[in-house]
Amino acid sequence: MLTIKDKNFVPFIDQNKLKNRIVQLADQINHDYQDREPMLVVVLNGAFIFAAELMTHLTIPCRVTFIRVSSYQQTASTGIVRELLGLSESLTGQDIILIEDIIDTGLTIQEVSRQLRQQQPSSLEIATMLFKPEALKVEVAIKYVGFEIENQFVVGYGLDYDGLGRNTKEILVLA
Ligand code: 5GP
Repeated sequence: MLTIKDKNFVPFIDQNKLKNRIVQLADQINHDYQDREPMLVVVLNGAFIFAAELMTHLTIPCRVTFIRVSSYQQTASTGIVRELLGLSESLTGQDIILIEDIIDTGLTIQEVSRQLRQQQPSSLEIATMLFKPEALKVEVAIKYVGFEIENQFVVGYGLDYDGLGRNTKEILVLA
């Protein structure tokens, strides 16, 4: 069990299950991108461990870059504004694989994809370690999904609760 600020988290997806699934995803990507050199665009902070593990199992030539999404409420009418930070490379004509830790409502990945598509990549696919289909509010096509989970709050393997809990080898769920 892991306790963060009075909240208890219990084991959910163990190390072996995670690693095996990530190897399967990498095999699928190796197959799908045989004659290409994709650029992995990793959404920080949460996706850093998943992306690192996935990348070590890729046998195709590939590049990696990192972005951040800063979300803030501007006015009540504009709602949440998601600003994309840190992208220095041109994505024009590139095969992009956008790497996320978890897709919940889908609003973040939808907006990130929209902004990246403005650069006219050759292709853009989404890979996420976790996906909560019941929480999804918008339509997003997710090509590579590690695990579909119920609408529960999880931490570990890069995912945090108030900045803590990222440093575990397994994924835990709020008890
Ligand atoms: P969305 O825009 O899809 O609702 O939210 C995606 C982001 O919300 C993720 O990148 C992650 O930062 C955060 N998030 C959503 N669900 C969880 C969860 O169960 N645990 C943690 N630690 N973060 C979550």
